[in-house]
Amino acid sequence: AHLARIDATDEKVHAFLHVDREGALAQARAVDAKRAAGEKLGPLAGVPLALKDIFTTVGVPTTVGSKILEGWIPPYDATLTRKLKEADVVILGKTNMDEFAMGSSTENSAYGPTGNPWDLTKIPGGSGGGSAAALAAFQAPLAIGTDTGGSIRQPAAVTGTVGVKPTYGGVSRYGMVAFSSSLDQGGPCARTVLDAALLHEVIGGHDPLDSTSIDAPVPPVVEAARNGSVAGMRVGVVKQFRGEGFQAGVTQRFDESVELLKELGAEVVEVDCPSFDLAMAAYYLIAPSECSSNLARFDAMRYGLRVGDDGTKSAEEVTALTREAGFGDEVKRRIILGTYALSSGYYDAYYGSAQKVRTLITKDFEKAFEQVDVIVSPTTPTTAFAIGERTDDPLAMYLADICTIPTNLAGNSAMSLPCGLAPEDGLPVGLQIIAPAMKDDRLYKVGAAVE
Ligand code: GLN
Repeated sequence: AHLARIDATDEKVHAFLHVDREGALAQARAVDAKRAAGEKLGPLAGVPLALKDIFTTVGVPTTVGSKILEGWIPPYDATLTRKLKEADVVILGKTNMDEFAMGSSTENSAYGPTGNPWDLTKIPGGSGGGSAAALAAFQAPLAIGTDTGGSIRQPAAVTGTVGVKPTYGGVSRYGMVAFSSSLDQGGPCARTVLDAALLHEVIGGHDPLDSTSIDAPVPPVVEAARNGSVAGMRVGVVKQFRGEGFQAGVTQRFDESVELLKELGAEVVEVDCPSFDLAMAAYYLIAPSECSSNLARFDAMRYGLRVGDDGTKSAEEVTALTREAGFGDEVKRRIILGTYALSSGYYDAYYGSAQKVRTLITKDFEKAFEQVDVIVSPTTPTTAFAIGERTDDPLAMYLADICTIPTNLAGNSAMSLPCGLAPEDGLPVGLQIIAPAMKDDRLYKVGAAVE
């Protein structure tokens, strides 16, 4: 049924880069066979899922939305892919994304944009726009995203779905193509808080193949999602996430959510996080710096595309020609920015300062979490904007993540869930809930209460 739904809708939505029809049917039949034989089934047996094209899948193309990996078939599964298979999930295919997860609209995909199922002329968010659109178009009940600065939560917000950025280290990065390794985090996407929790539990947990993976059990997210409540909880509203730049309908729905939290028994207080004003600037030094280092591996020798290899050119020339042809504009912009920020003589001023800001943001969170159990904010300052509206203005594009980036810099956990439609355009608004590191269960407890 889900493959039929994809057939009927994906020409317009373009959520998928690759539909693995045969693989999905084979997985589904394997589940049926297990069931018929009375064998023990995995916790998500037979549930279809849309996988962001950033996770390696053995035998199935993995492009990361880039021409540079066109035609590359990974020889191994990401840990997350393996866990999905072990849970008997049916992987429908690989979803569209901004190239190397750099963007907020999925327009940076080398394979064309994805439409927002609420209004196909609008962006579905990014970088994980394909996964969010697949959920909103009812092509899949579950999806996987990755969140470096907001790429799970912002697409969830603008498509009226649920997305969770787990605590950094909570879900293995092994086999997840690296953008900014100290910020990247895979996580669950779904249409309900409980569905997201069920998926979170399957993909989370320690992985010896990822040196930054946390060696502790997954927080009790499913139990929390089944027992939603905010009674007696203290909830913080960030002073800095209001006012200028926030669409009126977004603020209105957010204020209503805060009222609902109070009605349900939460105590709401304002928290002051002055360093959040610097988060965007710090992020756009740290993320490009790590990207410039990570993307050095695409040298035309190891993976995918190779341009100009006609026997007359040096290896350096082939590498340069391949990177010139294989990377898109935004990826090149970030590699140049990052290379500059890391270069000798500038390193302390740029990367060094950004790391200090990162510490200040972490301290703002620590101080806030001494007063409150969770923090809430709008996920994004606006609802979905029009395709093409911000493509010539990178700074306007970057602003979409103003409320989500601090969490990545500090490494704690956050969720976006729908909180109504903006009256002025009828498009979904996202409520963001932020919890301390390894307290991901609080997101689900609060999310299930206000859902
Ligand atoms: N939009 C942000 C960026 O372009 C975040 C992307 C992400 O979380 N992968 O870097």
